[in-house]
Amino acid sequence: MPRVAILSLHTSPLAPLGGSRAGGMNAYIHEVAMALAAVGWEIDVFTRRDSAQLPDVVPMAPGARLVYVTAGPEEPLEPEALASLVDEFAAGVEAVRGREGARYDLVHSHYWLSVAAGELLARRWGVRHLAMFHTLAEVKLRARASEREPQARIDAERVLVHAVDRIVAATEHERQLLRQIYGVPRERVAVIPLGVDLDAFRPRDRDGARSVLVRSGVVPRGDVRILVAVGRLEPLKGFDILVRALAQLTVDDDVFLLIAGGDERSAAEQARLEAVAREVGCFDRVRFLGAVPHEELEVYYNAADVVVVPSFYESFGLVALEAMASGVPVVASRVGGLVATISDGRTGYLVPWRCPEPFAEKIDLLLRNEPLRRALGEAGRVSMEQYAWATVADRLGTLYRETLGSGATAVPAAS
Ligand code: UDP
Repeated sequence: MPRVAILSLHTSPLAPLGGSRAGGMNAYIHEVAMALAAVGWEIDVFTRRDSAQLPDVVPMAPGARLVYVTAGPEEPLEPEALASLVDEFAAGVEAVRGREGARYDLVHSHYWLSVAAGELLARRWGVRHLAMFHTLAEVKLRARASEREPQARIDAERVLVHAVDRIVAATEHERQLLRQIYGVPRERVAVIPLGVDLDAFRPRDRDGARSVLVRSGVVPRGDVRILVAVGRLEPLKGFDILVRALAQLTVDDDVFLLIAGGDERSAAEQARLEAVAREVGCFDRVRFLGAVPHEELEVYYNAADVVVVPSFYESFGLVALEAMASGVPVVASRVGGLVATISDGRTGYLVPWRCPEPFAEKIDLLLRNEPLRRALGEAGRVSMEQYAWATVADRLGTLYRETLGSGATAVPAAS
């Protein structure tokens, strides 16, 4: 079976999710590597060694390995510092390949830093290069999801989008943006979404999930309503809008907002959100949970009446998928990938305005109407079936085969 080098220079697929350094992209690389290996692809995922304690190789599953490559100091670095390590990382991957006498048939890279490294390697090895950018600087700037992006990234992405053999976009919208902003022809972009683990995230016993949260002191005993938000604690996620919306709700019951995500690097953002909660008078009903281990999140989703995704931008937005797979309605910003995954009025609500009032209105509507919540939740679960990781990996495998078939057979690597 062909062998694929998956590049994830700046973050490891095994990093714990929900801190400040790992989110949807990490989950994607991990799940896809496992699912592709399960159907026979040989997968090596290369990432930068950011600690001296890490081994050279971690087996992920039969046929899938994570390989740590030394490039720069063996410690966590900011993305800006990583840009100068692209060549060193590529050389490190090539050194591993040479040592093992391996041959790769295809390169699949993630985020612009890895795409830059992937170009160097694919050209050296004479193989095709598929790239996923996950986010693009100019898209973030235009969506006002970011005020400033490094010029090096902007310049590199402008070149890389044309250099790679094929781009994998998560949504049709991303494909359009690639054409509008960068002039990338449609046919050079394949649209394959991210996915969701339909076994881990499925409707379960709501009362049982709530009892777990009561026992652990997250919410008080009694008839309370629960809103859940999940994501890295960053301004981009728009949690301040949600805290303000919480204060505007008009339902009679006590409504608690549980926010999962964050680590020591997001202390400033948490302090900002706490200040907002104090200002609007709902501090005692907001719970900051810190990063919740991914496998424990299902309890929170299942205990939730509504999951809210108030982000300023989401290139895809896995949290919304996880909530819908759990049978919970979602109220989300009408941005990026959320428009593709949430069916407005059927599986949740899409809010076009980035202000608290329309969020409060939709949340109130759902909290007051149990049959509506159930109907949206059930439709959400059904709509997620197309996003099973095995289905996503199957589409990706088809794209790999097509790409390999289009004249790119592995040539002996240059020594
Ligand atoms: N996540 C988690 N624990 C947390 C917070 C987030 O496991 O405390 C996971 C979440 O379940 C999802 C991912 O991190 O799988 C976030 O992906 P998403 O696409 O929503 O956002 P991104 O981080 O890519 O912006």
